[in-house]
Amino acid sequence: MQAAAHPILRDLVLVGGGHSHVGVLRAYGMRPLAGLRITLVCTDAHTPYSGMLPGYVAGHYDFDAVHLDLVRLCVFAGARFVRAQVTGVDRERRQVLLADRPPLDYDLVSINTGSTPHTTHIAGADTHAVSVKPIAAFNQRWLTLLAAVRAGRGPRHIAVVGAGAGGVELLLAMQYRLRAETQALGGALPAPQFSLFSATASVLPTHNTGVQRKFAAVLRQRGVDVHLNTRIQSVNTQGLRSADGQWHIADAVFWVTQAAGGTWLQGTGLALDAAGCVRVNAQLQSISDARIFAAGDVASLDNRSLEKAGVFAVRMGMPLARNLRRALTGQTLQPYRAQTRWLALISTGDRYAVASRGALGFAGAWVWRWKDHIDRRFMRRFTDLGAPGMGSRALGGVQAASVTGLSAQEALQSQAAQAMRCGGCGAKVGASVLAKALAGLQPLANADVLIGLHAPDDAAVVRVPAGKAVVQSVDFFRAFVDDPYLFGRIAANHALGDVFAMGAQPHTATAIATVPPGIDRQTQACLAQMMTGAVEVLNAAGCTLVGGHTGEGQELALGFAINGLIDVDAQGQPRALLRKAGLQAGDVLVLTKPLGTGTVFAAHGLGRARGRWVQAALRGMDQSSQAAAATLAAHGARCCTDVTGFGLLGHLAEMVQASGVGAGLDLLALPVLDGALECLDAGLTSSLHGANAQSAQRWLGPDAKPRTPQQRAFIALLLDPQTAGGLLAGVPADHAAACIAALRAQGYAQACVIGRVKPYAPGAAPIAIVEPIVEQ
Ligand SMILES: Cc1cc2nc3c(=O)[nH]c(=O)nc-3n(C[C@H](O)[C@H](O)[C@H](O)COP(=O)(O)OP(=O)(O)OC[C@H]3O[C@@H](n4cnc5c(N)ncnc54)[C@H](O)[C@@H]3O)c2cc1C
Repeated sequence: MQAAAHPILRDLVLVGGGHSHVGVLRAYGMRPLAGLRITLVCTDAHTPYSGMLPGYVAGHYDFDAVHLDLVRLCVFAGARFVRAQVTGVDRERRQVLLADRPPLDYDLVSINTGSTPHTTHIAGADTHAVSVKPIAAFNQRWLTLLAAVRAGRGPRHIAVVGAGAGGVELLLAMQYRLRAETQALGGALPAPQFSLFSATASVLPTHNTGVQRKFAAVLRQRGVDVHLNTRIQSVNTQGLRSADGQWHIADAVFWVTQAAGGTWLQGTGLALDAAGCVRVNAQLQSISDARIFAAGDVASLDNRSLEKAGVFAVRMGMPLARNLRRALTGQTLQPYRAQTRWLALISTGDRYAVASRGALGFAGAWVWRWKDHIDRRFMRRFTDLGAPGMGSRALGGVQAASVTGLSAQEALQSQAAQAMRCGGCGAKVGASVLAKALAGLQPLANADVLIGLHAPDDAAVVRVPAGKAVVQSVDFFRAFVDDPYLFGRIAANHALGDVFAMGAQPHTATAIATVPPGIDRQTQACLAQMMTGAVEVLNAAGCTLVGGHTGEGQELALGFAINGLIDVDAQGQPRALLRKAGLQAGDVLVLTKPLGTGTVFAAHGLGRARGRWVQAALRGMDQSSQAAAATLAAHGARCCTDVTGFGLLGHLAEMVQASGVGAGLDLLALPVLDGALECLDAGLTSSLHGANAQSAQRWLGPDAKPRTPQQRAFIALLLDPQTAGGLLAGVPADHAAACIAALRAQGYAQACVIGRVKPYAPGAAPIAIVEPIVEQ
């Protein structure tokens, strides 16, 4: 018997990581609601703070200074982060629909996806104009433009369409930055000429006339060609055509006009306003669906028209958090009261800003410094978070009763989940939950599977084709990421790695899983997500899932027994098997993926890894080694292993020992995941690291003692346990260049030669740190 974890009773899905939702996450991190699981779905791991965006464009701030790290914030809030694009909401099934992955169940949804300039009615705008929203996409285009300017290939005429505060601020920031860039090039190239277009009769039409005059004067002084009362009707590669039929030359066009809600909202059936934004009541709740809330630009208040401004999105955060809590605990919702006047601090790019509030306005360099102070203070609220919160899911017991609205059956399931749980066969997941969770799975059809999931029995029966031998491997681990779909994919990838490393073709698999007890609907959804991810990966590898076993456990865990096939000769001996033994002196050592998953996830658990490091590590773990194995074999690899728990050093040691050789490792050639060295430098290592470190002296001899801080970090990297790590192979030196080129062409962007095999030297440590040895 064992005590079960406290169950999840309700799911709140936050759609979009906008300015309101960061406030919601912070609020729930500081005061979790027991029994509630929060999932944030966002297209990006880092979301920009709009107030500092022009300063970033102008070059006053770097990327991290103006972006909120959603992944870290989720760790603090105990929330799940799912990087995905939301494509709809199935309100009947209560599911949030996502591009390229299974939907997420919800009890409540909150939408904070911002807005995009409305361009569908402008011919050519979608193709030839850069929309300032979504900002992540704008940032990519902006960085490309900057690189072109630095290379002397930048645009000569830049047009900005939209003369609201956002458009004017963006124009002035871009102009300031591009002038600085061209001056840095020696002033040989002229800075681009800027034009501003607006259908309105003045710039900043929603501000007072003093502020409008001030900006009109700044634009004049800065030589900007301003076209008011000019409605743009079409765009092409050469420029813009206005309603009066005139053409305006421009080789780069930025679009910053009135904003609309995302097109995905159209299919939800929610009540939307004329701009496609979600109509909400004063409680920020959809007027057509009580389970759906919205805030920020995407929300359209029925009782008041608000400007689309970050200041409102920020201010809605707390009332939204409060009302979501109230809705989940059965209390009356409270109205959000928008301020009637607000302070806008609008910068002119050159560390100067104009303050605008109602009829008031003043300007100066000191206003910019004031704005800078306010903005940095805002950012600190989300970066200086302290220790990660326990999160809503970690609390339970009596407090769990605070989430209300459970059906009688769900209440019973919840009580049962909190009671002492049986072990043995009593710990199996219920048959109906299992059947429903697995119903949607579509394992690959395979004529060799005589009895499998299509006709379940006590065990699967699989035929071994003539001329083949079976290669078997098993792997199992606890979830290190709380997205069951992604975890399922990575667990399958990790398990397949051993079979690929042997040069075999995966054939069939059985799964073993544990899921935490809870309400049936959520247990079922969790299992379905995890197995959908796993089956996608198995299918892509040509491997059929034939059976498995699912039990209850404290934590989500998944493993696979994989059966692979390898050709055998007439004597029944395997043909092209790639073993750990077989390295020959003079071979080069090829590694197909970067190192550092252990340390990045150790840091992630403490809320100390940057979101983009975590996302990059996950992308690497999600990459199959199938193509890598085939490429290595095609380039004469003599032996191979997959780098996992023992770290690169441990797995290389197994190879040199089995081959009776030594090896020289070029530390500086090691491919590294972004952030891994920073995490190691901060002493953030995974639990297996210590055990791996114990054998460092044995394998590296005196080289185990680093002489420089850089060496220390790289040696720690050699010991870092990897999940779904890359393949390490010995390849004849004359095949190395072609092999690396082919691996990179297959998508293993950081594949490289990391060292060379040396003859065995009695008395010397088997593995030595060497100077760079191979050009790549
Ligand atoms: C150049 C410029 C400067 C500005 N300066 C200011 C200023 O100084 N002060 C001010 O108050 N306002 C300013 N604004 C306006 C401000 O940017 C917006 O009002 C504000 O960003 C809206 O915030 P939000 O929370 O509604 O959405 P956003 O901040 O746009 O956040 C939306 C988030 O949702 C994600 N998302 C979108 N669609 C999906 C989807 N389908 N699935 C998953 N995720 C999705 C996005 O990636 C993003 O992370 C400026 C605007 C511009 C263009």
